[in-house]
Order: sequence, then C-alpha cells, then structure tokens
Amino acid sequence: MIPVSRPHLPSRQNLERYLNRVYETHWLSNRGPLHAELTTRLATFLDVNPDNLVLVANGTLALQIAIKSLELEGQIITSPFSFVASTSAAVWQGLEPKFCDIDEKTWNLSTSQAQKLDTTSANALLPVHVFGQACNTDAIDQFARSRNLQVIYDASHCFGVKYQNRSILEFGNISTLSFHATKLFHTVEGGAIYTNDTHLAKKIRRMSQFGTNDQGVIVDVGINAKLSEVHAAMGLAVLDEMDEILAERETIWKTYDAMISSCFGRQKRDNATEGNHSYFPILCDDEATLEKLQHKLKDKGVDTRRYFYPSLINLPYLGDTQHCPISESISRRVLCLPLYTGLRQQEQIIDTVNAMAAQS
Ligand SMILES: *Cc1c(COP(=O)(O)O)cnc(C)c1O
Repeated sequence: MIPVSRPHLPSRQNLERYLNRVYETHWLSNRGPLHAELTTRLATFLDVNPDNLVLVANGTLALQIAIKSLELEGQIITSPFSFVASTSAAVWQGLEPKFCDIDEKTWNLSTSQAQKLDTTSANALLPVHVFGQACNTDAIDQFARSRNLQVIYDASHCFGVKYQNRSILEFGNISTLSFHATKLFHTVEGGAIYTNDTHLAKKIRRMSQFGTNDQGVIVDVGINAKLSEVHAAMGLAVLDEMDEILAERETIWKTYDAMISSCFGRQKRDNATEGNHSYFPILCDDEATLEKLQHKLKDKGVDTRRYFYPSLINLPYLGDTQHCPISESISRRVLCLPLYTGLRQQEQIIDTVNAMAAQS
C-alpha cells in the first residue's frame, strides 16, 4: 500500500552521532545542548530570531500555550477548514470557537466573511495557513486592528514558508508550528511557538517549563511542554537533510501539478508565498466523484486522505448552530494525494486520477 504520507527517517548513522552525545552528557531533557543547537539551527534555517523561538513537545501544546500566554477568554474567531487540533486546542483552553468561512479559492479564512461577524465577545483570531499557502495577512491584520483582536496563526503546514520575502512566522502576534512525524520537518513529536515580541517570548518559554525562568525561578503558572534531547536529536538529523527533502518534495509536487488533469481543481497559490510543497490537494466536482476516486486509488494500493473532512463546524462536541457553506462544500471535495520522500509509482497514481477525469 502506498500511504498518503510517510515520515522521513534520516540517516541512521547521523542520528546515532547525535544520540551518542545524549549518552556522553547523560542529559535527556530540560533544555540541554541538543535542544539549544536545534533552536539556533532552526532559527537560522527559518530566518527568525532564535531568542523568540520556543520549541515544545507538540503542535497542539504550542497552540494551547499561545492562547494561554495572551490571556484570552470568550470567543475566538477561527477557520473550520483545518485539522481538528486548531479548534480543540482553543476549546481546551476554555474558549468558544466562532467559525469564519473560508475563501473559495485559497481555502484560508476569508476576511470578507469575517467582516460580517459580530466580534464583540471575541479577543482573538486563529487563522490557519492551510497546506502552506499564506493567509491574506494584510487583510487579516487590518481586520484584527479594526476589531481589537490578537492574532495567532496556526502555521503547522508552513515549515520554511516565506511570505512577502520574510518568514511566515513573523506575521500576527504569535505563530505555531507542528513537528509531528508526518509533517515536512519533524522531531517525531514536537512543535514550536514564535513571536516577534521578546517579552512575550520569555513568558511563553517560562510557561512551557513549569513557569520557571532561565535561572530556574518560578515566575508564573506553567505546564510541561519541553522538547526532550532525544527528540531534538531526531530534529537535528532531519534538519541535516532538509535541502534534499525540500528538493525531492518539490519535484513530486511539480510532477503532480504538471500531469494531473485540470478537471480537478487546485488550491489557489499566490506569488507572495514561497511554499514548501507539503501537500498536494485536489478538488473534485462533488463528493460522489471524490469517493469514487478514493475507492479506485485504494484498489490500486494507493491511500489518500480527506484533509480536512469533516468541516470543523460539525465537531460532535459543538452545537450545530453555526454555518459555513464554503468550508462545508470544499471539505467534502478535497483529497490529498501521497507526497513524501521516497514516493514510488507516482505515474500509477497520476494515471488512475486522470483515468477518472476522462470518465467524468
Ligand atoms: C498537525 C497539526 C496540528 C497539531 O500538531 P501536533 O504536533 O500533531 O499536535 C495543529 N494544526 C494543524 C493545522 C495541523 O496540521
């Protein structure tokens, strides 16, 4: 079976080189030398300030801590077209998600839809840069200022993405990343929080380590969200291969883009976004076509995934009082094709998809 995604395993020899350091120092967690090295090297790679980059144990905790650090309450405006964690992290922190429908073309939170919302009970916006395509940050910024809202971007899909010639992480008050095994860059489990605000970054760092500052003094309420040395070792070994990973994914992505029939829709990508080719989603005309295609691919041994279905408005723990028809329609019709390093038989996948297009 060809999976929809497969974690990248770095050279074992290289990973062992980092793990040997763990054995030499006997330092397994609590911001050890590998954690420090990964932080600096990631900051360089992502072109951000290392002092303001906080590594954490996963992307969901990154969102939770981001929300906690801004002391948010009441409602939070968010996108229903996302992975469940963006909404669930907000609910876990005691916030009420207020969904804003997405743009039909970019599939990101739409500010023209946001204009129609009553935001009097909201303090914040939580947009998601879906599939690595940047949100319209200028419009979101303007909207947020006009309504006095803080902005947390879920940038889980955006490892290495540049927007308007700078790191995507620099936009909004805070951005979060996920380093889960299936993401483009990973530490097995892991994530990061970034903010341009140095004072806020210090608070976020404290919050991720029981509320203690770098001298070990307890300052405020914290949680344990530390990234261990063993996880940092995996991160360093993957980062050593990042240029090759990105190049291989780009080749696969571009092959899909050139070969897949234009009968299937695509996410609109703008010129200001330098993407990372993390996903290859296609849009079917209707859900029946999608199901038929997914079935056909499965018969050929190809696994695909309905990212993101269902639209989060339908989460079982939320009442069904909200309505986002665009997200509902897109989420019923989007299918992600296999994309990972070491992918074989891409032609077979393309042929199966195109055969379906010829039929319909
Ligand atoms: C993966 C992902 C998360 C959660 O990250 P974890 O590291 O798995 O906790 C959050 N939001 C989005 C959009 C994601 O894709």
